[in-house]
Amino acid sequence: MNKDIATPARTKEIMQKYGFSFKKSLGQNFLIDPNILQNIVGHAGLTKEHGAIEIGPGIGALTEHLARASKKVVAFEIDQRLLPILDDTLSPYDNIHIRHSDVLKADVRQVMEEEFADIKDVMVVANLPYYVTTPIILKLLMEDLPIKGLVVMLQKEVADRIAAKPGTKNYGSLSIAIQYYTEASTVMIVPKTVFIPQPNVDSAVIKLIKRKKPPVEVTDEDFFFTVTRSSFAQRRKTILNNLTSQLPDGKAKKEDILKALEQAGIEPQRRGESLSIPEFANLANALYPYFS
Ligand code: SAM
Repeated sequence: MNKDIATPARTKEIMQKYGFSFKKSLGQNFLIDPNILQNIVGHAGLTKEHGAIEIGPGIGALTEHLARASKKVVAFEIDQRLLPILDDTLSPYDNIHIRHSDVLKADVRQVMEEEFADIKDVMVVANLPYYVTTPIILKLLMEDLPIKGLVVMLQKEVADRIAAKPGTKNYGSLSIAIQYYTEASTVMIVPKTVFIPQPNVDSAVIKLIKRKKPPVEVTDEDFFFTVTRSSFAQRRKTILNNLTSQLPDGKAKKEDILKALEQAGIEPQRRGESLSIPEFANLANALYPYFS
């Protein structure tokens, strides 16, 4: 087996060889602990039949573990300076394809068709750049890509919000959006000391397994998400007040919102954080006729 990239000594050696300096603006915090990488890959449940998509390979620390565990790895890297480094560090592997692009602008579906034609099960596994964790996760889920799920490292605070249950302070529209598409759980808490440079915040790894179908039936998905976002606009306000001030102007009156709340069996004085996902679905479906 090749010498791991993700040891402090090897990482420093690679960085010195190429005169590489970290760009904070690109969320560059590289992992330097092979055990953590091993654990992340373990949670993804990869086999030699699986494909893996990585976002931000950096100098290849996680990429090589993915290459050892799966059939093929496709990694999106935005920073051109890393391409010659990856060519060098990943040269022992013939099952990795690095794509120089911003994942937020990439046509990931098209890339998957090109790269994984003979592979059925694909997982996204990444140590995400922290400045764009939420947009990346939402893009991959909302585009309904043919992936099985994601195992990703991100800020612990965001992981807490993603996996939060109703009635807790972290529960909000992000929890609902992601739990609508996936079964979400936090699988690891990761200390700052396993990165260089160390990030300012604690980290966690979350596992998101895509649902075969959503847990609730909604008449219109966009409207459902508008209702959930509106309900948390001001956390201390009641659901009635948030909906009245946030939903599109001039379409429905307060009485209509009251009628819809009654129809959905929801007390108008409750706060958004107390509503479960099925309750939000009932509410959005009851409100929809007044706004369509
Ligand atoms: N995977 C490496 C590791 O664990 O050591 C590096 C992870 S580092 C937290 C994030 C990586 O994402 C960096 O290599 C950075 O250049 C890259 N990156 C940042 N924004 C990106 C974007 N929009 N699309 C693709 N890669 C991006």
